[in-house]
Parts: sequence; structure tokens; C-alpha cells
Amino acid sequence: MNLSFPLFDMPVVGIYLIVISFLFGAVFASFITCTAWRVVRGEDWMLGHSHCDTCGHELSTADLFPIFSYLALKGKCRYCGSKVPPRDLIFEIILGFVFAGTLALHGAIDAPVVAALTLEVLLLGLSLADWDSGVIPDGFLGAILVTWIITVGFMPDMQAYAVEGVISAACVGIVMVIVTAVIGKVKKTKMSYGPTKLAMCLMLFLRYRGTCAAVCVAIVLGIVFALVCKSKKRKISLAPAISIAAIVALLLKDVPLPFIG
Ligand SMILES: [Zn+2]
Repeated sequence: MNLSFPLFDMPVVGIYLIVISFLFGAVFASFITCTAWRVVRGEDWMLGHSHCDTCGHELSTADLFPIFSYLALKGKCRYCGSKVPPRDLIFEIILGFVFAGTLALHGAIDAPVVAALTLEVLLLGLSLADWDSGVIPDGFLGAILVTWIITVGFMPDMQAYAVEGVISAACVGIVMVIVTAVIGKVKKTKMSYGPTKLAMCLMLFLRYRGTCAAVCVAIVLGIVFALVCKSKKRKISLAPAISIAAIVALLLKDVPLPFIG
């Protein structure tokens, strides 16, 4: 089934939708950073109101507008005046740009773009959860799998997409299981298979070309993140490196690449 709305047949509409997608990115970032925070703390992620971490005051609707609320309140809590760290603001702006970039590069609203935007939201959430707790929550991985199962049927060349995705996931999975087991044996510690599960889920979306790009970027970023974590004497979080690599591969999906076309 091929449902597609070309973005630049009417350039004004296209530009309008790209601006709107920035705002959607900021809203979803606000939602997912809060969800990740609750998951890490073992709170109910669906129910319960957002509150100030210092004074515990429940936040009103006016406090919850992404980007704007932070700027209007000059990064302070409206009730106790304590400083609110700019982390959420930064991720709201980043996801806004990632959403706008995804739409602009792809040039249409269709199943691949819906899958990419959903993935970007989930990857932000699980990367923050992994960075804060050292664990990649299975709930996020389940949501990625559900996204693939729902969107695969709407992809323009469904059969090739599904076959390439499954083969990519299997190949990357086998290599990562072996590497993880060897590192665990050498270091004589119990290694987490969270990064392996995450990489396998993501490769389902990336086809051969995207898998090549993602693996190259993930290896470089993985080394950088491992060194940063080591220098800060904290548990190594690989989810952010794998997530950024997958998002880069998704963004480059529509751009010709050297060597792999
Ligand atoms: Zn407060």
C-alpha cells in the first residue's frame, strides 16, 4: 500500500509543514523526556502530573509549553524560583530540528517518514533513560518493534524493505552477540545485551544501505561515548551512540552517499 503526500508540489505548504514539524518535534521531546525520567524513577509513566523536582509543585498547562515556557520563565520554576536545568530545552530544540530535517530531506509525508519520526522520539527517550540509569528499558524496544510491525505494511516496496530489514538485523545481531560475549569473557564481567537488542530493532528500518551507514557511525560514536563515560567514571551508555547513528542513517536515506550510492 503506497500512501504519499508530496511536500514540495506546493512549496508554501511544504515550508509550512516543515515549520509545524519543528513544533511537533519540540512537543514530542517534552513528552518523551518526561516519560524517560518517570521510567528511570519507576514512576507511572502514563498517569500523574508533571511537577517541579525541587518544590514538588504540580505544573500547570502554561508551564508545559515546550521551549516557550522555559524562555518565558527564564529557566526558573514559577513557584519556588529554583533553576531548571536546560537539558529538556536543548532536547526539545534538537528534536524540533531533527523532525524538520527528516521531513525536508524526505520531501513527502508517507509511511517511511512516519516510521522515522516515531523512531526519533523513541530513541530520544531510551537514550536519556540509558544515560541516566545505565539500562535500556525493554518497553522502548517493544515500542520500536510495534512501530515496525505497523508501518511495514505501508512501505512503498514492502517485500524488499522487510527482507533487507530482517537480514540486516540478523547479521548485526549475530556480530554483536559474539563481540559482547568475547568482551564479557575477557573482562570477566556480565555484559548487557541491551545495545545488541536495540541495534537489531533499528536495523529492521534501515535496509542494507542504511545499515552500512549506521554501523560505521555507531562504531566511531560508540568509542567516543565509551571514552567520555570512562573519563567521567560512569557506566558506559551505548544507546545514545547507536541512536544517533540510526538517526543519521535515516536522515541520509534520501541523500546519495559516496561508495554506497
Ligand atoms: Zn519549584
